[in-house]
Amino acid sequence: MSAPAAGSFPCPGCGAPLTVRAQGRTQSVACEYCGAVADAQDPAHKLLSQYRAAVRYTPLIPLGARGVLRGEKFECIGYMRRAVRYYGVDYEWGEYLLHNPLKGFRWLAEADGHWTLYEVLPEPPKEGR
Ligand SMILES: [Zn+2]
Repeated sequence: MSAPAAGSFPCPGCGAPLTVRAQGRTQSVACEYCGAVADAQDPAHKLLSQYRAAVRYTPLIPLGARGVLRGEKFECIGYMRRAVRYYGVDYEWGEYLLHNPLKGFRWLAEADGHWTLYEVLPEPPKEGR
């Protein structure tokens, strides 16, 4: 696995610098200032979509922050805010994408102060016989 490098380009919406933290693997980058989502793989970085969130979230772990988790160094390279309605009750949580060039990716989910670490399987599990 080659080590993805960081790169940056101007936001197609407002011109602010957008950082690609896993170059070659990142498909899109969202601008924290104007809500533009830019194509990270297109050399012209065309605008894919523009969103206006009614509520903005500040991730507890800033993008670009580095730290040690269970003895391994990771960089936080992405954040998603997610929600689901189940039997009329709304549940929300955040998911952080962590990266180490040698160890790969991990997802760290946070809901109401509870943290869960997920490791991505390299292949789908095979059905047992
Ligand atoms: Zn922007």
